Formats: sequence, structure tokens, C-alpha cells
Amino acid sequence: MKNKFYVTTPIYYVNDVPHIGHAYTTIAADVLARFYRIRGYDVFFLTGLDEHGQKVQQAAAKAGIDPQTHCDRLMPAFKNLWATLNISLDAFIRTTDKPHQAIVQRCLQSLYDKDLIYQAEYTGWYCTFDERFWTEKDVENGQCPDCRRPVEQVSERNYFFRMSRYQQPLIDHIKSHPEFIRPESRRNEVLGFLQKPLEDLSISRPKSRLSWGVELPFDRDCVTYVWFDALVNYLSALEYLGRTTDATKFWPASVHLVGKDILTTHAVYWSTMLMGMGRPLPESIFAHGWWTVDGEKMSKSRGNVVAPNAMVEQFGVDAFRYFLLREVPFGQDGDFSHSAFESRYNAELANDLGNLVSRSLTMLGNFSNNLVPAMDQKSQTDLDRELAQTASNLFPAIDKHLANLEFNRALETILGLVQLANQYIDKTAPWTLAKDPAQDARLKTVLFHLAEVLRFLTLAIYPFIPTTAEAMRTRLGMTVSFDQALLANLPVWGDYAYTGETTKGTSLFPKNLPKKPTGQAAESSAASTASPKKAVKDKKDNSIPSGGEPGLPPADQIGIEDFMKVQLKVAKILHAERIPKSDKLLKLQVDIGTERRQIVAGIGKKYTPEELPGRTIVVVANLKPAKLMGVESQGMVLAAGDKDVVSLLFLPDDAPPGTKVK
Ligand SMILES: [Zn+2]
Repeated sequence: MKNKFYVTTPIYYVNDVPHIGHAYTTIAADVLARFYRIRGYDVFFLTGLDEHGQKVQQAAAKAGIDPQTHCDRLMPAFKNLWATLNISLDAFIRTTDKPHQAIVQRCLQSLYDKDLIYQAEYTGWYCTFDERFWTEKDVENGQCPDCRRPVEQVSERNYFFRMSRYQQPLIDHIKSHPEFIRPESRRNEVLGFLQKPLEDLSISRPKSRLSWGVELPFDRDCVTYVWFDALVNYLSALEYLGRTTDATKFWPASVHLVGKDILTTHAVYWSTMLMGMGRPLPESIFAHGWWTVDGEKMSKSRGNVVAPNAMVEQFGVDAFRYFLLREVPFGQDGDFSHSAFESRYNAELANDLGNLVSRSLTMLGNFSNNLVPAMDQKSQTDLDRELAQTASNLFPAIDKHLANLEFNRALETILGLVQLANQYIDKTAPWTLAKDPAQDARLKTVLFHLAEVLRFLTLAIYPFIPTTAEAMRTRLGMTVSFDQALLANLPVWGDYAYTGETTKGTSLFPKNLPKKPTGQAAESSAASTASPKKAVKDKKDNSIPSGGEPGLPPADQIGIEDFMKVQLKVAKILHAERIPKSDKLLKLQVDIGTERRQIVAGIGKKYTPEELPGRTIVVVANLKPAKLMGVESQGMVLAAGDKDVVSLLFLPDDAPPGTKVK
């Protein structure tokens, strides 16, 4: 084992209905947990529920049940969602767990014994909703500055933790540990907060006002303030939910993931509590941003709450995981919209990744009997070397990005390799090689490279989209398991012995997605599907479109709107000449009705410059200009031929130049 990695989410408030925000934090933690596990780290991944406090007590009273029953009823919504989202948690803690409560009491007692907790009369403005006091200067017009509900003046004897004592040590720690609070903007916010005098923290509530909580060990008439109880979960779980009897092994935490709204609670309350207990501080607290929906704040009253279960049902779990981490840099606020989701899905998952996997496995099937051939060193080209080099750079880049919690940049790097691999296929054109027995060694080398790039991608995407990775692993015939530390040593290109058979399978990301569900996406209880419900059946992936390239998968089918983007026009050839030093390229001057164009065409082996002027052909008129052997080409001619040009597409000579071809 290299090292340990301990990642936590906040424990979520049991009264909440799990929404995109909960899913976001938990998926991010899951990606880290999975990544460090296959990197060979000993990982502990903790999430859970905060079940104490006034709101739970009130909701239970309203429902006419005791608070514990209330919690027990709500808990499965979270546990089921984590199962649906493939969250590989190691432990699920509930603050009503008896061992947790005992540990909270032990922590309180130790602070009390050290005289770090004292009793005092306190008068202040109390917000019932937020369960906290505000000082005179915080309150505006008798309202809570946080939630704008009316506050009431309450006077009570409470216990206080001497938080003020740790103000300077905390400032020093933050300043000397740049990684402690991330991102940097949040770190500066906390330092700004700490410029004001830090007051002692009230850590008790009289039972007369709140009974649903952990009883203070030194005063039976009080319960513990919910935050003090909740924060201790990060330590208590290691004692009674850990895989090891050594509770100190995983402490300090590698990273606490929190929403930006609870950063102060973690960076200040939790840190000073730990200082008081004489425990090391976590290595890092990372505050991520919030999601809006179509530019608006998510709220029940607006009816725009994004229900994770509904998203998973519609798009599949991996697409949902992918989108959340791909769309927005972790740490910044993000906006969720169905159109953004669908465009990422179609462009990056269906077209780029799905298509690459489908094309590659089809060709391994068609040209190599579902076996990954060995590479022929002598037939290697620069294209192969570029692909191998880019793939070899992938994991060091992911290492760096994930250490910085830059999930989007890691995915961007992975996508870069996917796109390069698709270009590699286009450039090497294996379907052409397959027709020429003399190219057999070259074909094998290309197919081997495709298998290798899929293997690298399978390992790279696993933490993010594990279901897809598992499907790719199986289809590639890889006989390894993700339970192994597959990336303990970074993979070496060409180093893997393929023994299994490859299989093509169905589309990983079917293109025709069901439309947005109508009405508000209410939380369905436990619907769990690994793949999207398909509006259309998977097309038969083994068929080869007639006249198309063998190995061209249905994912490459286009709609009429795509075809209409290509402007085809009738053109008359005015002049033709050879491009020096090329036996293939001819430079044509053509009339396309509205203007004259210069087009460089690879037709020099079939046609002489003399026979072309006066002929009428078809050109692509809206192709971006490109340079071929230094000569600008402002379009493309249409011709038939798989490898060598068989014939230009000639039209009768009376077709007027500029006429649309459709
Ligand atoms: Zn409030």
C-alpha cells in the first residue's frame, strides 16, 4: 500500500429531499475514492446523515411519530440514491448511531475536563429555523440575516467552547498550509472572517427547548448543539465503522468536501474543536459551488428541483455523473439545463467516446476475428507514436488534476485522447488497409493501437463513469478487475497481453434520448437503472451501412439537418494544372456561379490536366479553406473511389454552375 486517502462528504440533513447538490458532492467524493483505490491507496470514503436538531424534532411531532422513527423513514432515500449513483462508500454514518453519540460525549467531556467548555448566561436573538443565535448587530429589522425569518430574544444558560482562544493559531495554520482551504478564493474568505474577533461557541441547548440531540455528559438538562455533534462524525466513524481497529490510521482526513455554505462551520468550528482536542487538522477542506437550474436558484416553490433519480432514469447514471463534473470547474457555481446536458451527452459521450468504442470494436471484429493482434514494429508510423505518446501523458495529467480537484480538466484531457483516437482511425483508414493483403502488418499495428487506446481510456474513465468502464473492460476482453489496484503502476503502452476475445455490444450512449419529462421531476423512490430507458431500440450494431465504410457504426448516422449543412454546388472546371512534386494533386480553377474558386484535388493519378476544362462537376462549397502542399484549396470535389479515385462526379454539361445539389 502506497498511502492512505480519507475522503468525506458532509453528513446531509435527513429532513432534506436528496437533490442535485447532494449528488454532486457525493459523486465527486466517489470519483476521488475510486481513483485513489486503483492508484493503490488505502481509501476510506465516508458519507452519512445528520439526524438531530430542532427541524427533525418538529417534523416528527407534526407527523405524530417519534424522531427516531421519522429518521428511519427518511434515511433510505439517501442510501438508495447512493446505490443508484454507484457510490462506492466505505461507511454510512448516522448521528443517531449509539456509538457516535458516545464518542461525541467523550469529546465533550475531554474538552470540559480541560476547562475548554464553560457555562454562561447568554442573551441573544434566536432564529428557530437556523437553530442559532445572532448578535444585536447581525439582526436587521427583527429578521434573521440568513433566512429572513423573524428572530426572538432568548436568554438562557448555555455551555460555551473557548473557540476564541484558537483564533490566532487557526489564522497561522491557514497561512502556513495553502492546501488547507481550497479553492484559494474561499481561503481568503475565511481569512477575512477571522479578521473580526472570534467569539466563543455556544455548544448546548436546554432540553426545555430542544430534546432531540446528544445529552451533555456533564449536564443532563442540555443537549449538544447540532453542529458540534455532526462534525465529530468525521472522527467517530473511524472508531466504529472503519475496517481497521486502528482509529487513528485514517486521521487526518485527506479532504473534506463541503458546499460553500458550510465552509465556515468546517474551517472554523471544526478546526478549533480539533485544536481543543489536540488532534491534527484535516489536510484539506474543499468548498464547491452551487447549482442553479436554467439560471435560477433551485427551490421547491419554483418547482425546478433537479431530482437525481429522474435524471438517471432519463440519461443513465454515467451520463449524469459525467455531466456534473465536466460542466463546471469544481469550486465554482454551475448552471444545470437540459440543453447543456444533452449537448454534452451527444457531443462527448455519444459522438466522441461511444463512437470510438463502437468503431474500434467493430473493426477488431471484422478485420481480426475479435482478437487483438500483435503489433508489427516495422510498420509503425508517426501517427502511432503520437497516439501512444498522448496516451502515456494521460495518467500523469489526471494525477495532477485530481490532486487539485480539477475534475473538469481531467475529463477534458481524457476527451482529448478520445478525439485524437477518432482522428487516428480516420487517418489510418483501417477499412482500406483491410482490402490490401500487402497491408496486413500495418492493419494489425493499427488495430493493436486501437485496442491499447481503449485500454488506457477504460482505466482513465473508471473513476468517473464506472459502469461504462466496466462495459469497455468486458468488451475489450481484459481479464483484470477494478477491485485491483490497476493503476498502482501507471500503464505502459504495448505492455498488456490481450488474451480474451473482444465483443462489440450495443451502443454505450444511444443517441436518441427520450425527451425531457413533463412536469416537475418528483423524486421517485428507488428506481435504479444503469442504462437509459431507450425510446428507440438499439439499432443492430453489426450491420454495415451499404456503400459505407466497413466498421462504420450506426452512431455515425446523421439526420437530414446535418446533411443540409453541407453546401453542394454544380461547378464548371475552367482550368487545371499539376502541383509541382505531386503526382496526385491537381490545382483546379472552377466557376461556382457566384464566384471563381481554386480547389486542390487528389485526382492527378486518374486525370490529366488537359482533359478536365469544360467538364461539369460537384463541389462542397462551404468547406473551410485548407492548404495542401502549400497551395490553398477553397473547397472539395466529389469523386467516387475507396482508396484511389475511380471517377469524378460528372454532370451533364448543360447544368448551370452554382445550381444547388441536394
Ligand atoms: Zn434564520
